Amino acid sequence: MKILPGIPKIMQSVEKRGLFEYCLECEKHLLNDNVHYIIEKAFTDKEVIFELAMCSECYMSYYESLSLISRGKLEEHFAENIGDLGRISVIERYGYDFEKWTENCIVKDIQENETEFRQVCVHCLGENLVYDIMPFMLSDAALEDLYPLLSKQTKDEIERFKDRFFGFPPELAIDIDKREFVFV
Ligand SMILES: [Zn+2]
Repeated sequence: MKILPGIPKIMQSVEKRGLFEYCLECEKHLLNDNVHYIIEKAFTDKEVIFELAMCSECYMSYYESLSLISRGKLEEHFAENIGDLGRISVIERYGYDFEKWTENCIVKDIQENETEFRQVCVHCLGENLVYDIMPFMLSDAALEDLYPLLSKQTKDEIERFKDRFFGFPPELAIDIDKREFVFV
């Protein structure tokens, strides 16, 4: 794990026009040096269609609210498909470089310009970026593989989550559903 200063512009908030400042769920202030949080953004070609920042406590409790079966399957799937969880080969080749860590899908051999839709996740600590398993990118194809692994209960939970936080305009909601957004 390595911690480097600065949050890449692409992972900052489009809506807030700058850094994410508060947890989406509990509104904890995120820009303190001792606060761990996750930023997730979903992109089409160059457009952001989804963004959130959530403190690590809320993130974990959300994850724990997913069904045990889904969690088990997701963990199994990642363990099988992500060869080196420590990102050793990326570190050896490129060092700690956000662009390099996210230009290829972490699960499939697909580059960011080869996928219509992608989801990027980063782990932050205050105004710093943490390199552990994150940052990573998931391509359309990788997300499509994940969705069938989820139980009905978990899919319902994701729907509730989307409804609660994102008043998506219907056409976007349809688009998101079609894309089978997965909260990872
Ligand atoms: Zn929170």
